[in-house]
Amino acid sequence: MNAYLNAPITSLSGVGAARQAAYAKLGIFTIRDLIYHFPRAFEHRGNIRPLATVQNGERVACILTVSSQPTVARVKRGMSLLKFKAYEDCDTRVGDVCEITFFNQDYLKSTFPLGATFRFYGKVERKGQKFYMTSPAYEPCFEGRSLPPLYAVYPLTEGLTQKMVTTHISQVLSTATAHIQDPLPEEIRLREGLYALPYALRQIHHPDSFETLHNAKKRLAYDEFLRFALGLGTMGKTPRQTGAPVCQVRDLGAFFACLPYALTGDQQSAIADIAKDMASDTAMSRMLVGDVGCGKTVCAAAAMYIAMASGRQAALMAPTGILATQHAADLIPLFEKLGMRGALLTGNTTPANKKKIYAALSSTDPATRLDFVVGTQALLSEGVSFALPGLVITDEQHRFGVGQRAALSEKNAHAHLLVMSATPIPRSLALVLYGDLDVSRIREMPPGRQRVDTFVVDESFRARLDAFISKNVAEGGQVYVVCPAVEEKEEEDLIPLWADFDTPDSLVDTPDKDQPLHAAVQVAEELAQRLPHLAVACVHGKLKQSEKDKVMNDFASGQINVLVSTTVIEVGVNVPNACLMLVENAERFGLSQLHQLRGRVGRGQRKSYCVLVRGGGGDAAKARLEVMRTTYDGYAIAEQDLLQRGPGDFLAMGQGDSIRQSGGFRLQAAEGWQDTGLMERAFADAQAILSQDPTLEDHPLLQADVFSVFAHAGDILN
Ligand code: ADP
Ligand code: MG
Repeated sequence: MNAYLNAPITSLSGVGAARQAAYAKLGIFTIRDLIYHFPRAFEHRGNIRPLATVQNGERVACILTVSSQPTVARVKRGMSLLKFKAYEDCDTRVGDVCEITFFNQDYLKSTFPLGATFRFYGKVERKGQKFYMTSPAYEPCFEGRSLPPLYAVYPLTEGLTQKMVTTHISQVLSTATAHIQDPLPEEIRLREGLYALPYALRQIHHPDSFETLHNAKKRLAYDEFLRFALGLGTMGKTPRQTGAPVCQVRDLGAFFACLPYALTGDQQSAIADIAKDMASDTAMSRMLVGDVGCGKTVCAAAAMYIAMASGRQAALMAPTGILATQHAADLIPLFEKLGMRGALLTGNTTPANKKKIYAALSSTDPATRLDFVVGTQALLSEGVSFALPGLVITDEQHRFGVGQRAALSEKNAHAHLLVMSATPIPRSLALVLYGDLDVSRIREMPPGRQRVDTFVVDESFRARLDAFISKNVAEGGQVYVVCPAVEEKEEEDLIPLWADFDTPDSLVDTPDKDQPLHAAVQVAEELAQRLPHLAVACVHGKLKQSEKDKVMNDFASGQINVLVSTTVIEVGVNVPNACLMLVENAERFGLSQLHQLRGRVGRGQRKSYCVLVRGGGGDAAKARLEVMRTTYDGYAIAEQDLLQRGPGDFLAMGQGDSIRQSGGFRLQAAEGWQDTGLMERAFADAQAILSQDPTLEDHPLLQADVFSVFAHAGDILN
């Protein structure tokens, strides 16, 4: 794209080194990045409310006229208060009066002359019939001026304020329009009835109405789908390398003899697929999919055995330290019996140990060489190199980005690649996300597995739930309680970008406003108080890795009865003694995610249960959660999830959390987009374009568009 859009954001007035660094944390480096920094939500300032209907603490818009001359009072430590009263001008009744206060903004005195009318937006404090607002947003009202109804609220990071980002984006939008060329072929734009790009970008930041916002989102969501499919189609794919080591092991009997159980038919055929791939000098590129608990790990172990018995090394990468540690604890002793040596490498490994492991992996001496390593993304670090790379495995693929997968196999060009995933991806997405991989599926569960009975309840069941937790613990079982991630405060009054703007009326009232949102720490504290005889612990993303590991280990060893967590436990962890999974505010989770969570229990002998506690969301949420009660097939659930919540979650999964957060490929407009038809058509368009022009050379604008986004993803890996 052109120089203006590629200019660093320091070319904006008011952006120096410090703010540049802050923007970098959001993945914003250039003017273009800034334009593509979409609002995360909107303040509904068009929703004007009579003061009389406002509840204490609500954030609303009111039209008020200044009724007393602003006065400035000095209070201690050089602080000053600017105060005035403003009344509601009503034809039908005597309007209420609101007292308005600003801190340390004496200069506003002249902004609010007697008799002037403003639209104020902010939190109202109400004491009986008295109303107060502190530092509200304000806009003058006068004849013939219509104030915009929606105000963008942007994702922030330390060092940036809403006001700064808003100002910077406005500054950019006013000039950028002339520089933005629409990369989308006109016939597609017209077929879909999409806004031109410059207009869509303006409307996503400064919408004139719900309708234009909806249409802007549609255009930008289409772009994200297209870019996503083009990006994966042109890069990040694992090429089928020849020159891979031929790993052929005639008899796996020695390996099978070390297992405490017989393999299921599906496990056997997955291993047969793998063995066949690895016996060829074309590198394996295979994905192993199967519901949580179906026993993918042992198939991975078989693949490792095949590599190692052929004189090659194997690497297994897991998304979390907890999971890597658990894998190491299983695999190191297993392979020890077979005379094969391995090590665990995570972010927690001491520098001295790291050094030893690096040396042992790259050692040319068979006596000191490690045969395999299990680890986290630490395996991607520079020091890791294999003397005889043979096999690379990533577990729980959905947690990694396509880029990370590529990085690991790039590091070991010619090695065989196996990726494992418990997330069933709907068919329409699988081709784009994993079209480059062969797939083996495990459908059959190991014998003796039980169905996890699932219930959907609401807050009125709280006492019974407590009793049920106690009962399960008294019988020797363990309990998971999962809460949605901690949300920012005051969020409920805003309209999130992912909301469905087609039906704006449904957004204005958030009917479940006073329903408790269960943040993990708080829930753990309350539970511990209500059930003092139980050992309750909490694990969440803000803890240090070592703290998380300790809590997880204590839970696995049975010292903790009830583990309260955010979704950090979602992936892979295996505690067969856990028999009850309670999900708070279950309406906030995707169905596929709930299915994953449910797979944490029912892994041992105990009769197991999953209880979904509905915190709000009304009948729609209830109906959605009902699917969980009646369906146990991960694929059917994934298809439902796609229909109900749109593809955003799945595509984001395919990209991995770290890339999403680091400002590489981000789904913004497409997050929560419901119409999967739009996505399917975008994917088909991408395929049609790539079949004619695989590297996008003949579509320079599209190529630049795709590269500008996917290039960052590559950077992060280095
Ligand atoms: P996932 O597919 O979710 O990674 P795991 O590999 O962690 O599942 O396996 C879940 C549990 O099932 C483990 O405790 C494992 O030992 C056990 N398991 C795997 N295969 C079999 C089998 N064929 N028979 C009995 N138990 C099995
Ligand atoms: Mg697993």
